[in-house]
This record gives sequence, structure tokens and C-alpha cells, in this order.
Amino acid sequence: MPKGRTKWSVKKKTKQPQHVLGREANAPNATEWSSMTPYNTFQVADENDVGYDFSVQDVVCVLPNGRQVGAPIELHEYWTCRILDIRARNETDVWVKIEWFYSAQDAARENSTFVASHCGQYERLKSNHTDCVSTSVFNGLASMKYYDETNLNQEPIFADDFYYRYTIDLPDLSISPTPAATCVCGCLYDPSDTAPGSVMHLCPRPECRKYYHRGCISPSKGKGAHTSPFHRVDFLLTDVDTGVALELPLNESASAEPPKKRRRASHVTDPAAFSAPIAALPQQLVRAAAQPIVRGGVLGVAGNVAAVVAARRLVCRALRDEDAVDAWADQMPKDWEKSMPDGWDAEAIEFDAAEVTDDGVQNSESNISVSGGNRRKGAKGKKKAIAATTDSTMRVLPCPACGGAI
Ligand SMILES: [Zn+2]
Ligand SMILES: [Zn+2]
Repeated sequence: MPKGRTKWSVKKKTKQPQHVLGREANAPNATEWSSMTPYNTFQVADENDVGYDFSVQDVVCVLPNGRQVGAPIELHEYWTCRILDIRARNETDVWVKIEWFYSAQDAARENSTFVASHCGQYERLKSNHTDCVSTSVFNGLASMKYYDETNLNQEPIFADDFYYRYTIDLPDLSISPTPAATCVCGCLYDPSDTAPGSVMHLCPRPECRKYYHRGCISPSKGKGAHTSPFHRVDFLLTDVDTGVALELPLNESASAEPPKKRRRASHVTDPAAFSAPIAALPQQLVRAAAQPIVRGGVLGVAGNVAAVVAARRLVCRALRDEDAVDAWADQMPKDWEKSMPDGWDAEAIEFDAAEVTDDGVQNSESNISVSGGNRRKGAKGKKKAIAATTDSTMRVLPCPACGGAI
């Protein structure tokens, strides 16, 4: 306990409810707190006498003030906080020092520069706002994940996970990092946006490393077909960390090109040359590596970035003969398959079927064969049918900055 502080509780703002947590009449003051016995865990029993443990560093749900115990409440409506310290006067008189997570709306009320509307329902802001509360306020444990939008190893964030990507710090209520748009439209990422085109694709190349809305970078109608088709094989033959195209001994035509040109385009000119070494790899790994890196809406807040990046690294190492991939699944991140979109492993999108056509629709069934190189466009009617069903699945699009496949 730092000297000079006389109370645990940070002074409540008007946003705080009437029954002010941390202001219970018999809450310990700092002097008493320092003399109380610390514990790592406390237990709360429910009406059936089943005990639930709460430990230091757990994130917990707290019933918001004004809500009745037992009344219906959605998970995202709970307040959330992290347990910092547990102390007790006796077996039943237990007090807990907590650190609050702010809702986006609370943060926006405190700091008017913050735009709450781009935050999801389960999004919170980590704060250094502490309180001392009794154990009676705790409802249950919550899953709280940190979301670093620039992290290629970001763990997936699932539907019932709370998450935070910003912090709000007392006393100046500064928010960091400053929310910044990465797409050409200048709009911030709203993970809860399920509108068509809101899915975001990542260009992982170090000079880009930005997400773009699918709808903002899909080629617009009437501009004609791309001069460069986008192949999923590009995903496999580019080092995901450096953005440098792999140079395989088998690919004599690609190796003969000036390196600069190959890097800029990041397209493999003759995918057929790579078919044999890729075909020798575990095909589920190949399919995972050949997915675009996407996030948003039904694809999850953080999307499939960690899974796809891990798969691409494994493929890259294997193609360079640096590593065997027999036990590749053991080297994939936790829950990686759960972070992949429905249908990712289906035959129809296996590896080499990606082409952006003149109306911005990827013909995901065109079956561009790696070995045959026989590219063709689908019929107009077929493309429209695919467009209606693939917004939540995979497309390959051009990065607006580097022109590579994303
Ligand atoms: Zn955009
Ligand atoms: Zn790029």
C-alpha cells in the first residue's frame, strides 16, 4: 500500500450507479486492509451449496447496480473486473481489491474523444480504476482476452469471450493506443459489423500489415478483370513474416525473374512448378495456409490470423527443407481449428481455386489447377450464386497498397 493513500476506492464518477461498489459501510480502510490476512482464492456458494472459486488475477462478472438478482441478463451486460487482492477479517467477511474494465460507452462518457460505436458488445477497456468490494458482488468467472490488432500470433476471440484492445488510465482518462483506421475508407474496425463487405482481410507483409474491408477493396463493377489473377498458391510461396517470395529450386522460370519484380507482384508466375513439393505436404495444412487472413462478423473478432500464419510458417519451413511437418498439428496454436470459418476445409475451396472477376466476385469453384494451370472463369449466373453464399467464407483480393494477394 503506497504511503499517503487513505482509501482503496477511487472517487466515483456520475457514471457509477447508486449502490456504489467499494463504498459499503463496513469496507476496510487502508490501515485495516494492511493488517488483514491475504488469500489467493475465495469461494462463493450458490443456492444449492455448490462452491465456486475466485482467485487473484481472475476476471469476473459483476451484476450491474440496479439489476435484480435472478432477473434475465445477457452475458455482455455484466460489469467485468480483475481480482487483484483478496483479504479477510474472518471466514465469512472477505474483501477483494479489483480493477475495473470499462464498457466502451463508459469510456466515451469519460473521454469524449473516444468513439464507442466501433466497439463490440463484449469489448471492454482495461483501466487502472480500482475498488474494494465484498465477495457478494461476484457472479461468475469471465474470459477476458487482450486483442492486439497487429499481432500475427493473436489468439482467437470467440463469441462469449470478453476482450479489450484499449486501456483507459486515471486520472487523465487517456486512452491508448489511439484508435486508428487501417482501411482505405478511413473507418475504424467494428468487430460486430455483419454487413456484407465488412469482413476485413489482412495483408501481412511487413510494409503493409493492415486490414482492409472486403467491400472496400473488391474490384468495382465495370472496371474489367484484373490483369493479375490471385492465386491461393501466393499465400504458400511468400514468407508471411518477411513478405519475400520463396525461391524454390524447381521454379526455374520464377528464379530467372528479377527479384524486385517478383517481390512487388508477389505472384507466382508458374504455379505448376510448385505443385509437386506442395502436393507432398499434409493437405489439411496446405488448405489452412492457403486461406486469406480474415476477421470480423461471424469470422470472430480476431479471426483466423494465428492459425493461418502458423500454417504458412510451417509450409514455408517445409518448402525450404528447414523442418519436417509430420507432427504439424502439434505446432499449431491452441483452438486453431475453431478459429477457421465454416467450410474452410471443404474440397470446393481446396488450395488453388481463386480468381477475382470483373464484378468483384471470386469464382471459388473455378478449379485453377496447380498442375494444369488451366484457368477459366465461371458463368455469370454461377458467380452470382457464389456471391450470395461466400461472404462469410473465403475470397482472395488484391492488397490496395502492395498489390499482393490477401
Ligand atoms: Zn474500408
Ligand atoms: Zn499489402
